[in-house]
Amino acid sequence: MRTTMMDLPLSLNHFLARAATLFRDNEVVSRLPDKSLRRHRYGEWARRTRALAAALQGLGLRKGERVATLCWNHHAHLEAYFGIPAAGGVMHTLNLRLAPDEIGWIAADAKDRFLIVDDILLPLYRQFAHLHAFERVIVFPFSGAPVATDFADYEQLLAAADPDAFEPVAHDENDPVAMCYTSGTTGRPKGVAYSHRSTVLHTLVGCLGSNWGLRSADVVLPVTPMFHANCWGLPYGAVMMGTKLVFPGPHLHPEDLLDLIRDEPPTLALGVPTIWLGLIQRYERALAEEPARWSLPRGMRSMVGGAAVPESLIRAFDRHGVWIAQGWGMTETSPLATVSTPVEDAGDDERYRRAAMAGVPVPLVDLRIGTEAGVDAPHDGRTMGEIQVRGPFITGSYHEVPVDPEKFTADGWLRTGDVATMDELGYVRITDRTKDLIKSGGEWISSVDLENALMAHPAVAEAAVIAIPDEKWSERPLACVVFKPGAAATPAELNAHLLGKAFAKWQLPDRYEVIDALPRTSTGKFWKLKLRERFPR
Ligand code: ADP
Repeated sequence: MRTTMMDLPLSLNHFLARAATLFRDNEVVSRLPDKSLRRHRYGEWARRTRALAAALQGLGLRKGERVATLCWNHHAHLEAYFGIPAAGGVMHTLNLRLAPDEIGWIAADAKDRFLIVDDILLPLYRQFAHLHAFERVIVFPFSGAPVATDFADYEQLLAAADPDAFEPVAHDENDPVAMCYTSGTTGRPKGVAYSHRSTVLHTLVGCLGSNWGLRSADVVLPVTPMFHANCWGLPYGAVMMGTKLVFPGPHLHPEDLLDLIRDEPPTLALGVPTIWLGLIQRYERALAEEPARWSLPRGMRSMVGGAAVPESLIRAFDRHGVWIAQGWGMTETSPLATVSTPVEDAGDDERYRRAAMAGVPVPLVDLRIGTEAGVDAPHDGRTMGEIQVRGPFITGSYHEVPVDPEKFTADGWLRTGDVATMDELGYVRITDRTKDLIKSGGEWISSVDLENALMAHPAVAEAAVIAIPDEKWSERPLACVVFKPGAAATPAELNAHLLGKAFAKWQLPDRYEVIDALPRTSTGKFWKLKLRERFPR
């Protein structure tokens, strides 16, 4: 027997067409470099997006060719998310926080033909321009200043194009729409290419009630950069559901974000733990000193991921009526692969304990814990192994790189390099990245567990734990701590605090180093490589 269903490809163009008609009056708000707000309606945004697609075709863009973006979070970047695929191209988001040489290398590796760049990022572009010759550089006049004549002006291109005459390019659902490079925290950056199909499926899963739970009435604040695993896929979901979007532009300091949250209160906000940590600490300080200045919208949801989310952070936000759901994933997984959904009918401590885990695999993702003894470790919450995943929005290879058995198992699962346990309810708890685990006398100590416990100490603002070589035990933990302004604690006090959190004596750090700030990676994670270089022994 044959199916009777229509054979139509999954397509991002469908989301664009929906937004243009169903949600044409809903708002897309962008914060400009001068901190003023620019407002568009989805109807106008969709016209601009079609105009961008028509303009790219006019410039000669052919199917499958890459168009890079070097942009902050704003409406024009969202136009690129949909306009480039509608024209048959592949959007390649460049990470503006990488070193210029690395950005140039990545653009050359991806063979990006065109570049869309914010005018305020031209100084960065000039630092890597010698490494890759884009055929056209299209400048988005984000600051409002005129665009120099040696570049194409984004607004002029749109104004000259005819959105009404534009027809999206026909495609197969497996054709590519976007690509991102892994940030290279663990080696040379590698390209991951997403398809219409993978993006649509990931968007549907992301929008489920147990994940982002998006409805048209939502107001979404994506603080996660649109170049960081494509803002975790949220922009696609927002357009599919027509939610109001509030883009922070280049203003990501805690005070700027608190201003924006006060002025355009979101119902859902996304960010990495380090930014959220800075935000809540600034907010709580303000509550003591100038209580009327800001307020967090009660009932706001937040999804936080990209690095372990300390339980103390979840509790702090919950005190102010904001519930944090944790997500785990990576560029290779589109990225949402697990989410810690709240457990019904659990006491507070149990709710927080589970919220501080990576959570359960989302639909369409198969996940197993690989141990040395074999794969699929017992779901006992204790046996550690490497997370391996597969699914329709998980990469099966890297762009123009031969398949490496270090990255994929013989039976075709992605080896994530993250070490975790899974419990009887299917909750995954990340203990470390493979290379960050501390191997002490044949036992493993989780640096993530120690960090989370240290950050729950009232004097500690941030903590990162690394392994240092040890003759007797092979490796021992060293904790780098940053104290809150005006606060401090002795190593003995910190150790006593850890013993109170159920750590055994042999798991305690051998040494503490007090530092001014923790180094951060390009995506805002604690950069342990730099700490290892600074404290080699
Ligand atoms: P990179 O870290 O190399 O910049 P990604 O942004 O793709 O690249 O990050 C993926 C990695 O981030 C995961 O492999 C994992 O180590 C870490 N990560 C993501 N989410 C979480 C989480 N909720 N808890 C712990 N680690 C996480």
